[in-house]
Amino acid sequence: MTHSRDGVPAVEVNGLRKTYPGGVEAVKGIDFVVAPGEVFGLLGPNGAGKSTTIGMLTTTVIPSGGSARLAGFDVAEQPLLARGVSSVVFQDAVVDSSLTGRENLELHARLWGIAAADGRARIDDVSDALGVSELLERPVGSFSGGQRRRLEIARALVSRPRVLFLDEPTVGLDPRIRHELLDVVANLRGREQTTIVLTTHYLDEAERLCDRVAIIRLGEIVAMDSPRALLAGLGNEILELRVSGEAEHAIAELRERGVGGEDAFAIGARLTIPLHGCAPSEALSVLEEARIRVSEIATRTPTLDDVYLNRTGERLAAVA
Ligand code: ADP
Repeated sequence: MTHSRDGVPAVEVNGLRKTYPGGVEAVKGIDFVVAPGEVFGLLGPNGAGKSTTIGMLTTTVIPSGGSARLAGFDVAEQPLLARGVSSVVFQDAVVDSSLTGRENLELHARLWGIAAADGRARIDDVSDALGVSELLERPVGSFSGGQRRRLEIARALVSRPRVLFLDEPTVGLDPRIRHELLDVVANLRGREQTTIVLTTHYLDEAERLCDRVAIIRLGEIVAMDSPRALLAGLGNEILELRVSGEAEHAIAELRERGVGGEDAFAIGARLTIPLHGCAPSEALSVLEEARIRVSEIATRTPTLDDVYLNRTGERLAAVA
């Protein structure tokens, strides 16, 4: 990993909690460590506690318990130092539409006390990395949504943060622009030495960008690993089908015959069966012998949605 100045983790979260006035337990004691240079994703449906977590890490939300450190600085005890080593791009725009792209970046460089010459070089650098160099002389009011989002990220990088927080970076963008932005963020890691912590409810985004993801549900981390490791737990192939009778009975039959392990599950009449090397036909013949009628049979490769579903019994994609 790059940028490992002193072996201190970029982000270290211990037992972090937030209960809002009124009693909503938005974050219920989470732990994770992000290494310097890592791209770490907080993945979960709306209301899972992702923004609250980012809020605590960026010192805008006061934790109710536990601790969080950025490059060694405690967000509650040393908020200025913690803010000094980090930058955040929120969902809502903070760039000024009446100024040009360059004026926005210069303003930000001045706010951070960056010397003019250094600031100019840095602005050239980050604009190039985010693909906004050609737009810099235009007022931001004339930017498209995707261009504005890229300028926001460029702005956040001007101060050379050790940790960059991206809160739902692609929300509100149409699919093509969204993919362009993902490319730009993916390319950042080669150029910038920043650790990135991003939140998303898009599975593909987490899979594509993140070295590791923490899957969050109702303020708790239900799984945390690299996307590849999380998916590997479910094998190479998943069989999905609908049964006419009792789904739990079908699962029990499959388990008894050694097809579909503990991770096979049913939601309503729909069965999801990680095959772990069994052929789909084996599962189908077990069900046929048990006189269970099946329909809507399909196989596919596992996704992070299956991981979420498997851990929580809910569909991430549907609730997002
Ligand atoms: P996410 O970012 O994953 O969508 P949030 O962190 O925004 O989740 O919200 C987590 C929970 O905390 C939700 O139940 C939400 O309604 C609640 N919540 C968020 N902000 C506040 C607030 N300022 N006051 C009270 N409850 C809040």
